[in-house]
Amino acid sequence: MAGTAVRGRLSWQVAAVAAVRDETPSVRTIALSLPDWPGHRAGQHLDVRVTAEDGYSAERSYSIASADGEPVAITVERLDDGEVSPYLTQELREGDQLEVRGPIGNWFTWDPADGGPLLLIAGGSGVVPLRAILRHRYRSASKVPTRLLYSSRSLAEVIYREELDHYQGSAEVRYTLTRSHPPGWGGFTGRVDDAMLARVAWPASQRPLTFICGPTLFVEAVAELLIARDYLASRVKTERFGGA
Ligand SMILES: Cc1cc2nc3c(=O)[nH]c(=O)nc-3n(C[C@H](O)[C@H](O)[C@H](O)COP(=O)(O)OP(=O)(O)OC[C@H]3O[C@@H](n4cnc5c(N)ncnc54)[C@H](O)[C@@H]3O)c2cc1C
Repeated sequence: MAGTAVRGRLSWQVAAVAAVRDETPSVRTIALSLPDWPGHRAGQHLDVRVTAEDGYSAERSYSIASADGEPVAITVERLDDGEVSPYLTQELREGDQLEVRGPIGNWFTWDPADGGPLLLIAGGSGVVPLRAILRHRYRSASKVPTRLLYSSRSLAEVIYREELDHYQGSAEVRYTLTRSHPPGWGGFTGRVDDAMLARVAWPASQRPLTFICGPTLFVEAVAELLIARDYLASRVKTERFGGA
């Protein structure tokens, strides 16, 4: 039985694009219709395979943007020199088909029973699995104390801004803008550093459960800062998207 379950999870299935939604000028959410989807947990990812007419195919991983129990959606940031993300964000249309396998990953996941306090730290599109966690927390009416620190280049590049602002109050949502910020901006500016973490991170004595996601170097830098603040390595979970 276990073998069947693993095979089922890891085999490719055809997904139809149910809807597309532009989140920012370079980021698109793609809702997928997956009749054989076994269900997923907040924080997991899937693999996408796209195949060109000449038979050339490429695979990439994408975090699942939706909460447990919701239809599967992914949110893709376009890298202009990329192979797959320009296709997914610019050419793919409702009704088109993709191959998908998953859900994948059992470590970078959260459920209300896992407790907290939760510290979520995102760089750029690294907010995607953290959004799934926040949605799951909200939908399950969890009261686990939660803070999100989200680093973006500019306000226009903040993904899911309206939804994240809606969580403000039940969770603490803080932004830092690294390249430009509007006049009168009241949030943080610049890269995540120790002084910023001193203001946002829970004290280590509270044994926070931490999820960090984004470009590889961002994730490694933030994890190091938290370990230096005496965070327990076993409670600091990381997901690296690649790139610089
Ligand atoms: C577990 C996991 C989950 C992921 N989830 C998401 C997600 O939710 N949303 C999302 O948009 N992406 C996500 N990614 C990244 C995604 O898999 C692709 O790497 C990304 O879409 C680029 O693919 P590409 O074919 O367009 O670029 P490629 O042709 O692979 O790369 C083009 C250039 O961009 C650089 N590059 C590759 N990846 C990145 C990156 N992440 N940041 C900056 N530069 C990069 C490469 O070094 C190269 O120079 C995830 C990656 C992993 C491993």
